[in-house]
Amino acid sequence: NSVFASVVQAPEDPILGVTVAYNKDPSPHKLNLGVGAYRTEEGKPLVLNVVRKAEQLLVNDPLVNFGYSLAIQENRVTTVQCLSGTGSLRVGAEFLAQHYHERTIYIPQPTWGNHPEVFTSAGLSVKTYRYYSPNTRGLDFQGLLEDLGSAPAGAIVILHACAHNPTGVDPTSDQWEQIRQLMRSKGLLPFFDSAYQGFASGSLDADAASVRMFVADGGECLAAQSYAKNMGLYGERVGALSIVCKTAEVASRVESQLKLVIRLMYSNPPIHGASIVATVLKDRDLYDEWTVELKAMADRIISMRKQLYDALQARGTPGDWSHILKQIGMFTFTGLNANQVAFMTKEYHIYMTSDGRISMAGLSTRTVPNLTEAIHAAVS
Ligand code: PMP
Repeated sequence: NSVFASVVQAPEDPILGVTVAYNKDPSPHKLNLGVGAYRTEEGKPLVLNVVRKAEQLLVNDPLVNFGYSLAIQENRVTTVQCLSGTGSLRVGAEFLAQHYHERTIYIPQPTWGNHPEVFTSAGLSVKTYRYYSPNTRGLDFQGLLEDLGSAPAGAIVILHACAHNPTGVDPTSDQWEQIRQLMRSKGLLPFFDSAYQGFASGSLDADAASVRMFVADGGECLAAQSYAKNMGLYGERVGALSIVCKTAEVASRVESQLKLVIRLMYSNPPIHGASIVATVLKDRDLYDEWTVELKAMADRIISMRKQLYDALQARGTPGDWSHILKQIGMFTFTGLNANQVAFMTKEYHIYMTSDGRISMAGLSTRTVPNLTEAIHAAVS
C-alpha cells in the first residue's frame, strides 16, 4: 500500500485543460484560442530576434531590473528575480503573509483563474471587488470604487497593470487616478500584476503608466512582472517581484526577507532566461529592437480584432460586437456563455475557456472565417 494512497486527484487547470482537449482532437480544422500565448499568422510560437541576439551575446548577470525613476534613484525599490509572473505573485504573497499586518487581499471579479489559489496557498484571505459589468461589457467603475471604499484599511489590492485578463477592459487614466486617490486615502496596499506589458498599447512605457502613477506619489506598492509574453519566453520562467518602500533602509530589510522566502522555497532561480532579458534591457539597440518586435505582436492582435469584428458584421451575426474592438490586450471576453462555448468546441473544433474568453493571439486571417461561422451559429 502506498503511503500516498489517500492523495486525491487534483482538479485539472481550467486553462491548460483546454489545450489537453485540443491536443486530443483529430480534426484538421481545430483551433486553440484557450491559451494566452502569442502566435504568428501561421500559428507558430515566435522567437524574437532580440532573444536570438541576446543569447549569442549572453552576459552572465542574473539580475533583472526595470526602471522606476525617483524611487529607483533613492534605492527604495527592492527587486528579486522570481519564477515568471506566478512565482513573483507567490513570493510577494508569502512575504506579505509573514510580514504585513493585514491578511485580506482583494482581487478583481473576474480575474486570472490562478489568483485566488496562489494567494490562499500563501495564507492570505481572498475577497473580490467588482470590476466588470456584463451589461456594458465595460468597467464597473462605480462598483469598484464602492468595494475598495469599504475594504478594511490596509487591505492588499491586486491591480492588473494593463490588459486585464480575462476581460480586456482597463480603467482610463482618469479612472486610475481616482483609484489611486481612494487607495492612498484608505491606506490600501497596491499589488500590481504586470503580465502583459506592451500588449495593451504596443508601448512598454504607456502600459506601465498605472504602476508609475502609484510610484510617483511616493507611496509603497508591490509589482509582479512577467517576461513570459512580452519576450516570448514562456518556458524560461523569467519574472521579477519589486517592492517599492518608503526608505532605502526598509527596502534593504525587506530584500533580506524576500531572499529568505525564496531560499526556503527553491533557493535560487535559473540564470539562462533572466540573462537573455537582462541583456536586452541593458543594451540600447536590443532594447529598441525589442520595442519594435513587441509593437508588431500587439499590432497583429489589434488587426485580428478588426478582422473578426468586420467578419461578424458582414455575416450579419446578431448582437453588438463592438467590444471586440474596444477590449485591450491579448483577450476578448466575448460574452459567449459556457453552453455556446461547448457547442463551438463540439461542432467547430474551436477551443477556449468556458467563460467565453478567446485569445486573439491564437487567431489568424486564415482562421477568422471558421470562428465567425461558429460564433454566428452559436448565437443565432
Ligand atoms: N497574471 C496574469 C493576469 C496572467 O494572465 C498570467 C498568465 N496567464 C500570470 C499572471 C502568470 O504569468 P507567468 O506565465 O509569467 O507565470
